[in-house]
Amino acid sequence: MPVTSLKELAQHLDLTQEELSWKESPVSVPLRITDHYLSLIRKDDPSDPLRRQVVPTCRENTSLVSESEDPLHEVVHSHGSRIIHRYANRIAFLSTDICPMYCRHCFRRRFTGNMEGGATDAEILQCASYIKDHPEVREMLLTGGDPLTLSDSRLDYMVTAFRKANPRLIIRICTRYPVSEPSRIDENLISMFRRHDSAPFYLLTQFNHPREITPESIRAVSLFVDAGIPAMNQSVLLRGVNDDPDTLEELCNTLLFNRIKPYYLFQGDMVSGTSDFRVPLRRGLEIEKKLRRRLSGLAMPNYTADLPDGGGKVPLCGSYIIREADKEKGSWLFRTPEGGTREVQDPSV
Ligand SMILES: *Cc1c(COP(=O)(O)O)cnc(C)c1O
Ligand code: SF4
Repeated sequence: MPVTSLKELAQHLDLTQEELSWKESPVSVPLRITDHYLSLIRKDDPSDPLRRQVVPTCRENTSLVSESEDPLHEVVHSHGSRIIHRYANRIAFLSTDICPMYCRHCFRRRFTGNMEGGATDAEILQCASYIKDHPEVREMLLTGGDPLTLSDSRLDYMVTAFRKANPRLIIRICTRYPVSEPSRIDENLISMFRRHDSAPFYLLTQFNHPREITPESIRAVSLFVDAGIPAMNQSVLLRGVNDDPDTLEELCNTLLFNRIKPYYLFQGDMVSGTSDFRVPLRRGLEIEKKLRRRLSGLAMPNYTADLPDGGGKVPLCGSYIIREADKEKGSWLFRTPEGGTREVQDPSV
């Protein structure tokens, strides 16, 4: 049984004063930690990086004026209660607000954990007709909450409706189950997805720390990959969790070895109550620079910010172009990752 209160949690961990004085509020996500994840936490370390992601502290009860509940303007871009259409060719469908375990850094906390449950038949059919009316939409992010909290038959119903509206719709299954509760992922779930073979699926995971990659999570992801569903990972850069190059280097290399492509490394969004987790951009850029020298192109994630006021995603990295050196000749001056410079003759001029 998952732990859902501080009282229960105190039976497993010696809670600190900051943890004990957390107050649940309407904007916070509930306390819920799976047995699996709890077993990975190092009990004797109050600053354990896994503990920080799931055990709330009173720092969560502080909101900054620069923060807001919905900095990405997801509500502005919503059509009905569950479709977010921010980019022309792809939509996100909020299939449910429930997760098996809640992350203290959750950026969609205005929605997540409100306990409203899965999308109704009417909401699913409304989304299907939206897809039909918008043939420019080629990809869907099946997200939430965590879609795999829904039963296989409910997921089957959703995918059937969406693929009926557009048989070539690429669907990303966005889930933290390989981290939180890998035993959920079994042959039945995979064969259900496989039956919908008119377009590809992609698995989008959220591993933030190398210790989250366990034999059970590798088995869970392998079921997808062996079935022809490629796996990609989206990490969040989190203070005190993974904000150092060594941890991220190990995370990305271990993911790659297990056939999970590091896709994004997100800068923390300006969401109310998450300031404890944000890493200064200057530090993030230094980490990115080091990773770029150490990791292969396959292992390197795109360090990315989702800009406030719905500005959208932008890549974060230092420029390797110093300047256009000679406009007449058409040559450019570059910085090498090791700190040298090179002039490049531009053939197009
Ligand atoms: C991030 C995001 C996407 C997907 O963007 P990609 O860069 O293609 O991964 C789609 N819709 C919304 C609302 C998003 O926030
Ligand atoms: S799994 Fe995703 S939606 Fe659920 S609490 Fe974590 S970050 Fe939020």
